[in-house]
Amino acid sequence: MSDDTTRDIFIAGLKNAHAMEKQALSIMEPQVKRIENYPDVAARLEDHIRETARQIDRLDEILTSFAEKNSSLKDAALSFTGSMAAFSHTVTGDEILKNSMTNFAFEHFEIAAYRSLITVAELGGFPAMVNPLQANLNEEIAMAAWLEDNLRSTTIKFAKLKEAGRSAKM
Ligand code: MG
Ligand code: FE
Repeated sequence: MSDDTTRDIFIAGLKNAHAMEKQALSIMEPQVKRIENYPDVAARLEDHIRETARQIDRLDEILTSFAEKNSSLKDAALSFTGSMAAFSHTVTGDEILKNSMTNFAFEHFEIAAYRSLITVAELGGFPAMVNPLQANLNEEIAMAAWLEDNLRSTTIKFAKLKEAGRSAKM
């Protein structure tokens, strides 16, 4: 494989990851503002929003080192739309459950993206880029694991709140 090929694949992947992280913020930020009854979920989302900002910084640093101007970055809308999470769930009483599922799916999308990007970094001989990408990947794995671990307790809490007639509040 030519150096140009792997470099092009890598830069495209970095830009996609950058767009993905912006999308992640657009999914999580509206959610966290609406949560009232699930403070542990809100706290973990706040943590991951801060992590995501640092992930974007890491991607920016890598892109800058490839002499790609950040201003030229176009964060194309991904097919995995944040609007799905941010809006349609709000009209039904079970948005905490649907958002939990959306977030779980999105974290696994991110995990796949970083695994692929790390592979390209290795193929292209960019070993210095692997560590920051691995740092992002580790945070996605941790967030996905947290969501998985908390799906049951969140569901039980939702059912109890619903029984108490408080289902309208996330
Ligand atoms: Mg992320
Ligand atoms: Fe994430």
